[in-house]
Amino acid sequence: MTIRKILTEPNKILRQVSKTVEFVGKEEQRLMDDMLETMYHANGIGLAAIQIGIPKRIIVLDISKNKEKKNPMYFVNPVINSKDSESSTYEEGCLSVPNYFAEVDRPKKCKIQYLDYNGKKQILETDGLLATCIQHEMDHLEGILFIDYLSKLKKTMIVKKLSKQKEKPDRIIV
Ligand code: ZN
Repeated sequence: MTIRKILTEPNKILRQVSKTVEFVGKEEQRLMDDMLETMYHANGIGLAAIQIGIPKRIIVLDISKNKEKKNPMYFVNPVINSKDSESSTYEEGCLSVPNYFAEVDRPKKCKIQYLDYNGKKQILETDGLLATCIQHEMDHLEGILFIDYLSKLKKTMIVKKLSKQKEKPDRIIV
């Protein structure tokens, strides 16, 4: 498994719409392994392939709080079949928008259809944190970031600050 570089906003690649995976084979499984490793290394609970620059409709998640007992979840070509009209609010962050957090409303429950690690079709009805995480990650597949839900002013400010951070040279300690 390899830890890959996570792309951060602003970056045009993050705005791409990811492509449907035709077949879940060794290459896709290797990608999912790398994504999971990269996500754990960055202390995230979810990661979409586009965040490491691969425009494929693949998501990995692990919302288990216990680091000893990992519970990785893999979603290939996820589709939302139904959503709740009731919404829930979480303060969201994103590995591609480092150090910024904001409250986002999303449907509380959703039913999704996807392929698992072995390419088997699955249906999952979920709510709470998992439902929110899946929806956040599925937004990545459409090139959407959580800051897109904020006011234009707030979003512009965050993107500006992130661009400034990028201009700084890398700090090295030798
Ligand atoms: Zn994200």
